[in-house]
Amino acid sequence: MIQQFLENGYKLVDFDEVADIYIINTCTVTNMSDKKSRQNLRRVKKKNPSAIIVAVGCYAQVAKNELEKIDEIDIVLGNNEKKDIIKYVNEYNNSKVLNISEIEKSKEFLEFGEVLYLETTRAVIKIQDGCNNFCTYCIIPYARGRIRSRSKEMILKEIRKVADSGIKEVVLTGIHIDSYGKEKDDNYYLIDLIEDINKIEKLERIRIGSLEPTIITEEFCNRLSKVEKICNHFHLSLQSGCDATLKRMNRKYTTEEFRKCVNLLRKTFPEVNLTTDIIVGFPRRDRRRIYGNI
Ligand code: SF4
Repeated sequence: MIQQFLENGYKLVDFDEVADIYIINTCTVTNMSDKKSRQNLRRVKKKNPSAIIVAVGCYAQVAKNELEKIDEIDIVLGNNEKKDIIKYVNEYNNSKVLNISEIEKSKEFLEFGEVLYLETTRAVIKIQDGCNNFCTYCIIPYARGRIRSRSKEMILKEIRKVADSGIKEVVLTGIHIDSYGKEKDDNYYLIDLIEDINKIEKLERIRIGSLEPTIITEEFCNRLSKVEKICNHFHLSLQSGCDATLKRMNRKYTTEEFRKCVNLLRKTFPEVNLTTDIIVGFPRRDRRRIYGNI
């Protein structure tokens, strides 16, 4: 979005400065992020009451009714509408605009074109969007829709350009990168993509974003062990160390399976760095019955 504005003659100023247009790219991963999004939207209107205030992103995608009621917001756009943000801002005529398409119907990755990288050492490369897993605690499938993989041609083209510009490291990211290629029928998956990226000259390091334990198989590790540029840091989301809780979370592995994945990674990469996420509280429905028994 920044790039679109720059290409259309706008000037980027620091968020704390007074601006004519404020874009709040909202997050909805927790109640706290919803609250912060609302606070920021109200705060910027106070700073410049005549500015155009735009709410975009995941919270805007799932909370149209809430944002509609906030007078300070002028334009509300969903995730698919980000690519046309310039049009919405340029055409704004003082009456509230709400445009949020049904993202769950999106079947194709929304290609955003070439990105201007301001970093000099590392570039974050988006390879897919959406998730089909529906973990019971997670709103992401509703905010981002179903899995859509970016074409390998566009990814490789972007990374070649990044490497040619002197950036040595790429981080492959997405909502659920394990799902890369799974909605297509060309049998080209995450490991195939990593192997192709490894062949790009001038690039020195490949990092991969958060993985689900279910992708860590013997075959995946064998193939990954031959990718010289892969960084031996993996983020595997555990979420809970209790099998009953994992089941309620609709996670698709047990603690024992998770342990096997960790051991497999340690065997493949003896110096491996592993990080994880753990949700430390999770509701259960049968609480009253258990207290009754006590
Ligand atoms: S796999 Fe990740 S993004 Fe998908 S529903 Fe579960 S927690 Fe959310």
